[in-house]
Amino acid sequence: MNAMPHAVSGTIRASAAPADGLGTSAARARSAELERLIHEDPGRFRVLTGDRPTGRLHLGHYFGTLHNRVRLQHLGVETFVLVADYQVLTDRDVADDLSGHVEELVLDYLAIGLDPGRATIFTHSAVPALNQLLLPFLSLVSVAELNRNPTVKDEIAHSRQPSVSGLMFTYPVHQAADILFCKANLVPVGQDQLPHLEITRTVARRFNDRYGRGTAVLPEPEALLSPAPLLLGTDGTKMSKSRGNAIALAADADETARLIRRARTDSERHITYDPAGRPEVSSLVLLAALCQDRAPEQVAEEIGSGGAGALKRHVTEAVNEYFAPLRARRAHYAQDRGQLRRVLREGNARANALADATLEEVRRAMNSLY
Ligand code: ATP
Ligand code: MG
Repeated sequence: MNAMPHAVSGTIRASAAPADGLGTSAARARSAELERLIHEDPGRFRVLTGDRPTGRLHLGHYFGTLHNRVRLQHLGVETFVLVADYQVLTDRDVADDLSGHVEELVLDYLAIGLDPGRATIFTHSAVPALNQLLLPFLSLVSVAELNRNPTVKDEIAHSRQPSVSGLMFTYPVHQAADILFCKANLVPVGQDQLPHLEITRTVARRFNDRYGRGTAVLPEPEALLSPAPLLLGTDGTKMSKSRGNAIALAADADETARLIRRARTDSERHITYDPAGRPEVSSLVLLAALCQDRAPEQVAEEIGSGGAGALKRHVTEAVNEYFAPLRARRAHYAQDRGQLRRVLREGNARANALADATLEEVRRAMNSLY
C-alpha cells in the first residue's frame, strides 16, 4: 500500500501553468493522453480527490469529478477520497453542523457508486500525520505565490467572511498534504482546481530538489479533467454550493424541474452548442448530453428551433432519468447512519497507516528522525 506508484512520464514542467484558458487547454490535452495511459495500465496510478463537507453535492461535482472517480475505481485504479472537514473552517458558518455535513457527503459518495471496500474514504482531521506534512510544505512556497492563486482569490470573494483566515490563505498547501500523503499521482478535478494542483506539484518538486538527494520522494501529481470541467449553475456562473445556483444530486424530480426552469439562457431561439459564444445554453446542452451519453452537438441539433423551453424540458427529463437510480441508492443508504460512520472509521485507519509511513519517509529525507 505504501509503494509509490510509478512516476508518470513526461510530467515535469519548469514552472507553474497559469490558470487561464491556456492552462486549461493544456490540461485538457494532457487528460486525453492520461486516459490512454490509464487504460493501458491502471496499476501505475493512484487517485486522490475530495470535497469540502459544505452542503449537498451537485451536478457540477458529479460531471466535473465524481463520475471520473467512480470510473477510475471500476478500472482498478487505487482511489482515495477525502472529506476535507478542516477546510470547512476556512470560510463559512456551516461548522456548527459539521458532522451532519460529513455524513451527507459520505452518503453522496455511496450513492454515486464509490465502494468503501475498494476506495479509501476518510476525513483529513482524523489523520494527524497528514496534517503534520503541512509544516515542511509551508516552508516551500512563498506568500507572493499564495497571493497569486486565482482560485483562492475567487473563493475569498465568495466567502461572505469579513476577513481572510490563515487557513484559507494556505488552503492550497494543505491540499498538497492531502494529495501527497498517499503519493497520489492522479487527481480528477474540475477546472477551478488547476491552480491548486500546480502548487502541489511545486511543493513536491521543491521538496525533492531540496531533500531528495537525487530521488523523487514525492510524485508530481497530474490533473484529470472531465468533459465538463466547469459546469455552470442556474445563474450562468460556475455551479457552486455556496452560490445558491446548484442542482443537488439528491434533489427530487420536481425540485430539479423547478431549478432547470429558472436557469439562465439567452434570447436566441435556435439552440446550438457553442460554449464560448453561448455559455449558458451550451452548459444545459452539455448536461443533457452527458446524462444521455451523446454528443452535445447532436442534442442541440435535435432541439433546433424548439427554443429554451424545449431545451429545458429535455434537460430535466435527461437529468431525472439519469439520476433516478442514484437517488434511490441514496435513500437506501440514508437508513443506516451507523454504516456511514463505519466507512469513515475504516477509511481513517487505512489513511493513518499510509500517512504515518509517508511522514516517516519525509522526516528521514529531511534528516529529522530522532
Ligand atoms: P464551495 O462553494 O464550497 O467551494 P464547490 O461547489 O465549489 O463548493 P468544492 O468542494 O470546492 O465545491 O469542489 C469539489 C470538487 O468539485 C473540485 O474538484 C472542483 O473542481 C469540482 N467542481 C466544483 N464545482 C464544479 C463545477 N461547477 N463544474 C465542474 N467541477 C466542479
Ligand atoms: Mg469550490
